[in-house]
Amino acid sequence: MKNPQLLLESPRLEELQEILLTALSEAGFKPGDDFHIIPLEASTDGPLTDEKRFYLDEMAKLNNDLTNMQRTLAKTNVELENLAEIRNRFVGMAAHDLRNPLGIIRSFSEYLKTELKSKIASEQMEIIDTIFSTSVFMQRLIDGILDLSAMQSGKVSLSLQRVDLNELFIKNLNLNRILANQHNIEISCTSPSKILYAEIDATKINQVLNNLIANAIKYSNDGSKIECHLYDEDRKAVFCVKDEGIGISPEDQRRIFEPFHRVSSDNKRGKSVGLGLSIAHNIIDAHKGSFMVQSEEGKGSTFCFSLPISPDKGQSS
Ligand code: ADP
Repeated sequence: MKNPQLLLESPRLEELQEILLTALSEAGFKPGDDFHIIPLEASTDGPLTDEKRFYLDEMAKLNNDLTNMQRTLAKTNVELENLAEIRNRFVGMAAHDLRNPLGIIRSFSEYLKTELKSKIASEQMEIIDTIFSTSVFMQRLIDGILDLSAMQSGKVSLSLQRVDLNELFIKNLNLNRILANQHNIEISCTSPSKILYAEIDATKINQVLNNLIANAIKYSNDGSKIECHLYDEDRKAVFCVKDEGIGISPEDQRRIFEPFHRVSSDNKRGKSVGLGLSIAHNIIDAHKGSFMVQSEEGKGSTFCFSLPISPDKGQSS
């Protein structure tokens, strides 16, 4: 049916028009292309017949149903938001209370590892080693849960400052090269000659970069290469980390930003938590930036994020 015409009767004409327009556009119809709303008075189809009146009554009933459904939906949304807030607070509190005892287990097992080295049997040392690495993993998990629950309940305040992105980028790479060298992985980089500035929380953006580079190292073979790029595009600074690692299937690419989504929970460089990318995405969203991933299984992945650049004031070129 092309361009159906909806005939509306006064006096609730404007109100009905608005409700219908919203409902039809939400359903993907475009006024003008797919339908026209014409006041009954303006219709050329003649006087109000019983048939027309019947359809008008039906439409009015449908409108009422629609309005009631919209109200119920809005109420359910508020309830869901409240429940999510309670869940975040509960998770945050539970994680916070676990943090301190875990810290004690971690530091005591670390102490025993160094103190008892070569004094106890290797099986006993293995047990201490397992206690230590498990507590390190659990601490990472708890820190991630705390970060995420704070972000999801909107409690993260960014400490924004005008930052030289080129400097942040190079400093971060220099630190990560140490980790990469341990696996004989070479990190190369390119950055623009023009200095890019942005109003950012430098600690949090460093956390995002660290996560992307740590993942690139974690999911690459020893001896492979990682490329890191910083460039400006459409008044945005874009950071990219490209690896030659195991890659991610299209199905998993859609889900890796979900909390706790892991493609494989264990890999040769340690246990996977599955929170890093989700936290990173939240941080970039909070900076009004965007995230992008391109990957091919067996060939490697490229993760990029962009940040709005500060106005020209103070930029040197
Ligand atoms: P984790 O801390 O477990 O690495 P992330 O949230 O950072 O968690 O990543 C989620 C999942 O995405 C990982 O478990 C891994 O399967 C996949 N992934 C992330 N980065 C890469 C990458 N560079 N190459 C291949 N897989 C990756």
